[in-house]
Amino acid sequence: MSFVEAIAAKRDGETLDREQIAAFVRGASDASLPPEQLAAMLMAICCRGMGPEETRWLTEAMLHSGEVWNLVADRPDAVDKHSTGGVGDTVSLILAPLLAAVGVPVAMMAGRGLGHSQGTLDKLDAIPGWDSDRNRSETLDLIDACGAAIIAQTEDVAPADRTLYALRDVTATVPSLPLIVSSIMSKKLALGAGTLILDVKWGSGAFRKTVDEALELAAALRRVAVESGVKAQALITDMNQPLGPVLGTACEVREALAVLSGAGDPRLREVSLRLCRETMVLRSWAPAEADTALTTALEDGSAAEAWKRMVIAHGGDPNPALLAQPTSTIEVAADHEGFMASCDGEELGRVAAEVGAGRRWVDEELAHGAGVLVHARIGDRMEIGQPLATLLIGDREVDEERLVGRIRSAFVIGDEPVDPPQLILGTVDDIAK
Ligand code: URA
Ligand code: CA
Repeated sequence: MSFVEAIAAKRDGETLDREQIAAFVRGASDASLPPEQLAAMLMAICCRGMGPEETRWLTEAMLHSGEVWNLVADRPDAVDKHSTGGVGDTVSLILAPLLAAVGVPVAMMAGRGLGHSQGTLDKLDAIPGWDSDRNRSETLDLIDACGAAIIAQTEDVAPADRTLYALRDVTATVPSLPLIVSSIMSKKLALGAGTLILDVKWGSGAFRKTVDEALELAAALRRVAVESGVKAQALITDMNQPLGPVLGTACEVREALAVLSGAGDPRLREVSLRLCRETMVLRSWAPAEADTALTTALEDGSAAEAWKRMVIAHGGDPNPALLAQPTSTIEVAADHEGFMASCDGEELGRVAAEVGAGRRWVDEELAHGAGVLVHARIGDRMEIGQPLATLLIGDREVDEERLVGRIRSAFVIGDEPVDPPQLILGTVDDIAK
């Protein structure tokens, strides 16, 4: 069979067989197919879609394109968490030690920042000494030492995804559901935790803009997980504005510590607690008992202790005084009154990245003291002079005035009262009912 026939079949809306999908993924991994044929197949998949079985075959082929860690074989209780991405999303830094504190071990492979969203690995790098580069056996040791391993995605896990993702990026085929599902799940299944909690965002700052689109993604991700023997749940949460009040690296670490110490932002706390609870329910906890254990851990200091253990096990220094501080700050205030109508989280995320929490070119050094603090929330009554946000300047040369202008434009104040968007819509099961 020539691969051209497989491309033609998908172009005409036919279902690919397992061998055709395997040939596609092999072609991406070992360069046995030229980029133009890979790109043509990506576009055909993007336009014609894939059924559940094709999506699962694609995911499995991508997962087997590299190292398969299958952690469940050695640590059957370990759980993994994935967020479809957003800004002010500090949840992973909270969820890992919090679950560890209640005795649920965590193993997460995290990524660097991409575009407007700050990456968990970049945030952890704000902690002096933290080292995320771990192989499988070191990851098992981390789970045993502190109950929560957060490690960097290695080159050897799902290499086909790297090739295909780069091609998708330049062929306008990123938003395809089967391509997203196979990309995310191939990496999750390669790590191989037995339990997976998914935080699927919807809204203007998410990559699925409507609730229906988010639900469709959540259901598809979960289906692949469950069919692969993974216990999985998906929560649909709001990304019409930043989740937590801080966007950056060191400042998000400080915010995580605040939540873990029983304080912190209520929105961030609520989403973190709910994701932890749903994870524990997957591990056979009763919801009420999970809630009690979680709030107790936040209040009696055990979650903060678990954070310290986690940082030390990863080579870091848990002293919060060592986290980078901004060199200066600029408060951006409302210039008219009314009601906060919308907040462009993506734009605030890009500003945070530009001021130092992200990279403008590959390998650029981060300025860990930099970021953005968000003060105004959708629905808030706003007076002239009331703070919208604060720009945290770190040690990177930036055009402060232009960034302040962009922050101001990210907030829209209207005349009419606005209902704030519901923070947590529920699990895919709740919503299906
Ligand atoms: N995250 C991924 O890893 N892949 C996608 O396609 C989208 C989000
Ligand atoms: Ca480091």
